[in-house]
Amino acid sequence: MGGVPIDLECKAPLEGLFAAGKDTSGVHGANCLGGNGVVESTVYGGLAGNVMAASCHDVALGPFPKM
Ligand SMILES: Cc1cc2nc3c(=O)[nH]c(=O)nc-3n(C[C@H](O)[C@H](O)[C@H](O)COP(=O)(O)OP(=O)(O)OC[C@H]3O[C@@H](n4cnc5c(N)ncnc54)[C@H](O)[C@@H]3O)c2cc1C
Repeated sequence: MGGVPIDLECKAPLEGLFAAGKDTSGVHGANCLGGNGVVESTVYGGLAGNVMAASCHDVALGPFPKM
């Protein structure tokens, strides 16, 4: 119940920030019903991962720093 607001694609208002599960205000609002937490984290965590992966396709990567 961390309160990060997200849209239906788990995007937070800050560009490039995604959130899911307990870090968000979630689908439960201020009262997470017992037994629903893991389901929410699993469903929205997977959705966030899919959207993040898709959103990376058009991002140009900078040079990889040499060690
Ligand atoms: C006592 C208790 C009982 C519960 N019982 C149930 C139940 O029966 N059924 C149910 O559905 N839900 C239950 N829940 C709720 C459920 O556990 C949570 O909703 C769910 O685990 C949230 O998942 P999450 O991935 O959002 O967060 P978390 O499970 O908290 O995962 C966050 C992860 O991020 C890691 N992390 C934190 N900071 C950093 C950092 N800086 N860098 C890298 N990693 C970091 C943490 O170590 C952790 O592994 C229970 C919760 C509690 C506390």
